[in-house]
Amino acid sequence: MKLKIAVQKSGRLYDDSMRLLKECGIAIANGGNKLKAEAANFPMEVYFLRDDDIPQYVEDGVADIGIAGENVVYEKKKQVEVREKLGFGKCRLSLAVDKKETFSKEWLNGKRVATSYPVLLQQYLDRNKINAEIHEISGSVEIAPGIGLADAICDLVSSGSTLLTNGLKEAETILSSQAVLISSTGLNTEKENLVQKLLFRIRAVQKARNNKYILLNAPDEKLQDIIKLLPGMKSPTVLPLATKGWSSVHSVVQEDDFWSIIEQLKEAGAQGILVVPIEKMIV
Ligand code: ATP
Ligand code: ZN
Repeated sequence: MKLKIAVQKSGRLYDDSMRLLKECGIAIANGGNKLKAEAANFPMEVYFLRDDDIPQYVEDGVADIGIAGENVVYEKKKQVEVREKLGFGKCRLSLAVDKKETFSKEWLNGKRVATSYPVLLQQYLDRNKINAEIHEISGSVEIAPGIGLADAICDLVSSGSTLLTNGLKEAETILSSQAVLISSTGLNTEKENLVQKLLFRIRAVQKARNNKYILLNAPDEKLQDIIKLLPGMKSPTVLPLATKGWSSVHSVVQEDDFWSIIEQLKEAGAQGILVVPIEKMIV
């Protein structure tokens, strides 16, 4: 039995999806132009598809699991389970208007909004009791206001540079999105066990990405202050250095607090601070 996973064939999610599988120890003999590939060391088969089709394939059970953006998963309204946020493919589905326009929700009433996401946009309009006309187009949504096709657009944004070059400004975010792992509902036990195994590995990879291993030297009289700054997984490792009165301290710190901790460590008397990436982390 093999777990069938659907991954974007090419595009913004392809590289990160393949990298994630690789970091989970799953070796896939190149994808690229092929429709299908087999993993060498995990009972997995990879299907390369357009991202928009992935929720449908997973709902139908043609693929057991898939990687797709939340924007696509929620727009398609398929019966699939969202199992894990994957931390890449981050973007926003946002309303954008002419940069000279003063935007408000009320302003949208009676306006035409061009989008490739009619379902998500309609949900937003309903939530906010706005009466606007949705004009569905499949690509190059950002040019719609310029050619008089719409008063506003609702499109994916990450840096915002596409909006800017089209004389638009981001007015409001209606969905924050990232890539997620989805699965079919009602997988059999054997497949569910494989999903659990994969999720365990994904979480270990994600944890490792968010943490750094830190090594430093500290004079013994400062050890207590320094240890207080470094909670570690249980508590820091402390080893004596060959030089008397000095110790080496090893611990794990979170990426988010990283810089503030480094500064505090230096102030507390730490020297020779080394920070190294962690490959996998199981807690
Ligand atoms: P496909 O040929 O698979 O249909 P596509 O052109 O629809 O490809 P991409 O542009 O590769 O799709 O985007 C895939 C996903 O990447 C989006 O659905 C979204 O979740 C995510 N994404 C992240 N940042 C952006 C962005 N700035 N613009 C568009 N999508 C983004
Ligand atoms: Zn697509």
